[in-house]
Amino acid sequence: MTLTLDDVTLRLGDGDDEITALDRVSLTVAAGELIAVVGPSGSGKSSLLAVAGALLRPTSGRVRIGTEDITDASDRDRTAVRARSIGFVFQGSNLLPSLTALEQLQLIPDLAGQRPSAARARATELLTEVGMAERLGRRPGRLSGGERQRVGIARALMNDPSIILADEPTSALDTERSHEIVRLLARETHTRQVATVMVTHDTTVLDLVDRIYTMADGRLTVGLTSASRPTETSLLAPG
Ligand code: ADP
Ligand code: MG
Repeated sequence: MTLTLDDVTLRLGDGDDEITALDRVSLTVAAGELIAVVGPSGSGKSSLLAVAGALLRPTSGRVRIGTEDITDASDRDRTAVRARSIGFVFQGSNLLPSLTALEQLQLIPDLAGQRPSAARARATELLTEVGMAERLGRRPGRLSGGERQRVGIARALMNDPSIILADEPTSALDTERSHEIVRLLARETHTRQVATVMVTHDTTVLDLVDRIYTMADGRLTVGLTSASRPTETSLLAPG
């Protein structure tokens, strides 16, 4: 399904502290497309994901998933939209230290009331798909950063989402591991026909994404602009 943000503004804080985290942002991400949003810290990247992921209601503008307009949905309905349609991948993977890789994933449908055996089978299948078949019983403390992020991606796929929102998924990884993780995100996006938004300030992975946007002071522009452009090499050879 297509993710659409139409002229979205988000103001946070109040009174003198009010800031415009998103300033008239419009964005369309089609099924099967991986887009990157690059920008410095504080530019509004996480705010963009919070609005796209039905965590925050925009101050103005519309948010749609497929044909469903979720802008004015109640808290309860937005929770349901997240559970049904959205997979989140977090900075540094955000796994629970006491749970094994398998248990991290099983937790998701447990909450949605699925049968434990079905959840276990699906979790095993997804962890195998992301290359973690040999690590099902390991806790995060015994996984590398790249392995933890693989588990994070598998967890985001548990509810068969139509949208994946990844917030700086490679920030804790070296260049090689970062490439592996973004390649995995790209593969899952294309094969599962998910609409994926990855926000990052890592410009070394941009050759792996379908389209690039830059965020600066809450404004979104197409392409890699001077605010985020470190070298010429990252502009070369899309795909
Ligand atoms: P990024 O993810 O690009 O670092 P954020 O979306 O987290 O940027 O933040 C954008 C702006 O909104 C920043 O100026 C930040 O300080 C501000 N901000 C974030 N969350 C809140 C909040 N809950 N209340 C007020 N301001 C916030
Ligand atoms: Mg952020």
